[in-house]
Amino acid sequence: MILNMKKILSLTLLYLFISLFCSIGNTVDLCKQFTEKSYKSKMYLKEKKFIDDSLLKFANSKEIATLADSLLTEFINAKSPTLFSWLKTRNFENEKEEIIATQWRLYFAKNFILADYPTKDNTINQLIINLNEDIAKFIFNKSYKTKLEKVFSKIQELSIKKINSYPIEIKIKTILSKKITKIKLHWLVKFEDSNFRNHPLEFLDWGFAYDPTHNSINIGVHALNYPFNVNLDSILAHEIGHAFDSCRWTQENPKIEWPFKKVGNCLRSEASINAKLRDDNLLEQEFKKGKISDEVYSFLKNNLTCNKSNYPPIGTQSDQLPETFADWFSAEVMSEIKKVSENVRYDLCENNHINPGSSYISNSERLFGIYYSNPILKSKLGNKILNTKIYCDIN
Ligand SMILES: [Zn+2]
Repeated sequence: MILNMKKILSLTLLYLFISLFCSIGNTVDLCKQFTEKSYKSKMYLKEKKFIDDSLLKFANSKEIATLADSLLTEFINAKSPTLFSWLKTRNFENEKEEIIATQWRLYFAKNFILADYPTKDNTINQLIINLNEDIAKFIFNKSYKTKLEKVFSKIQELSIKKINSYPIEIKIKTILSKKITKIKLHWLVKFEDSNFRNHPLEFLDWGFAYDPTHNSINIGVHALNYPFNVNLDSILAHEIGHAFDSCRWTQENPKIEWPFKKVGNCLRSEASINAKLRDDNLLEQEFKKGKISDEVYSFLKNNLTCNKSNYPPIGTQSDQLPETFADWFSAEVMSEIKKVSENVRYDLCENNHINPGSSYISNSERLFGIYYSNPILKSKLGNKILNTKIYCDIN
């Protein structure tokens, strides 16, 4: 009898050990595959090559190369510390001269030409327009657009379904549903008619971005980083969340309390992901110094969870509620999908560095603290995920 008891006990312990080991194993595996497969690099190779080639052609064009080369010569003659630090940060000190020259032209084209659009030179402006239009036409062909529009319609529908399931007033549900229904995906076709017309780098350097002025989701070339079969839908749901995040809501509905206040308070708590408040300690000082206009100052005072490009300054804490809320809403929408992929936010498996004061929390906090803490998502993934934070329930 005693022997049997011992046997049962040891078998139970063995079972517990195995299940615990498997759970941890699976948790790790969710992201382990990410680095092994590195899905990003295998996607859309042809399209990525086209972008690289187009940028190189642009940087080597007579007009731009002449400017780049003369600035490089100037820097070399002046033994410029800027040039030395540029070489050092890229480990180019022992690189061949031709490679350095090409990389310099590419750097110059991006940071001195594209960032400065419209330039004073009309020929260069036309090169910029052609570059953007050619890339957009090649990478976002009809089949890509049709496919993405289809995914987006589905996510819009699920977002409204989720909103309607919440215990909030009909009046508020109507505001939210109308807003969501009107969101459009924005594709660059004619550069000068596009939402990117003042900022070509937002097309060339970004993926998906909610644009409050047009209530659209602007599609930049980095959209290619998100494969259809993995997590494009959760990215789109995140962008939809920005249409009524804490910052957007207070601007558009200053007299109505944000319907997700309870969720917001929870996201701010330590039991959840401890989304940081905007640090306003420097606000008065920056305003008095004239670094912030009257308009921005009163905007910040009226919209406490919003961040502006010039406040908080680099290193000072930005508000993290809008970004964490968008993730929370994305997880809510994903929980409506019958067969949700284990890789619901595969891109967040990438270990990232968060700059002090960032409006983002780290990728692993986003994944484990928000996405996987959603109980429906968690159970759909077989409850394999450990170390999650509490779920921020609207009920
Ligand atoms: Zn976002």
